[in-house]
Amino acid sequence: MKIDIITLFPEMCEAVLGESIIGRARKSGAIEVNCHQLRDYAFDKHRRVDDAPYGGGMGMLMMAEPIALCFEDICKKNGTRPHFIYMSPQGKVLDQEKLKELAKYDSVCLLCGHYEGVDERLIEEYIDEEISIGDYVLTGGELPAVVLADALSRMVPGVLSSDECFELESHYNGLLEYPQYTRPQVWHGREVPEVLTSGHHKNIEQFRRIEAIKRTAKKRPDMLQKASLTDKERQLIEDAEKETKTVKE
Ligand code: SAM
Repeated sequence: MKIDIITLFPEMCEAVLGESIIGRARKSGAIEVNCHQLRDYAFDKHRRVDDAPYGGGMGMLMMAEPIALCFEDICKKNGTRPHFIYMSPQGKVLDQEKLKELAKYDSVCLLCGHYEGVDERLIEEYIDEEISIGDYVLTGGELPAVVLADALSRMVPGVLSSDECFELESHYNGLLEYPQYTRPQVWHGREVPEVLTSGHHKNIEQFRRIEAIKRTAKKRPDMLQKASLTDKERQLIEDAEKETKTVKE
């Protein structure tokens, strides 16, 4: 997977994506991330990439042409056209399903907006989709781009030690992850659930599945509608709900 990021602040993206698991994956060649300074594609001596919006109003807008030139250059260097995403509060809100879809691309390019955003004509002509990281507004697209790049990279084979690492985690299969424990076995008088120290793999797997369902029902009941559950598992949730109601009454 190749990820190109078009930004006014490449150091900001590098600072995050050069560290830890993603930094190591870049070094090993499992993923390639390139951060491009948009000002390198400005065409005046002040390296300006923004201007005032037509019709007036507050703030500045990023001009279309430097972004187009930068993207064309990336296409030329890569020898292929990446899926072009504009990080925008107006886009579809990012979730694990969208990440699974994006993970199918060999190459994606993320555009980080700044100021009031980007000239609409650039979006119409070049952008394949707009993605938001939540219903709130940030000052720039750099944080959203590193969020997307990180979440996407960890689904690329070879970035984590095994695919199971992300497949078992919250959201991948429509459930939250089961509770986890590490040493010591007793902490502040609280014991690790006995089954986890039993060495009985099938029982451990069953315990984790049930705990994942129970905690999703408790913390994010909205997710259960889409989760793939057996009839027995759905019954378990109904029983737990009935039990909670009785305790309340
Ligand atoms: N004027 C724009 C609007 O109201 O839709 C907001 C512009 S925002 C101040 C500047 C840039 O930050 C955007 O162009 C976008 O790249 C990025 N941005 C801000 N919030 C975001 C979010 N929730 N998700 C993704 N990108 C965001």
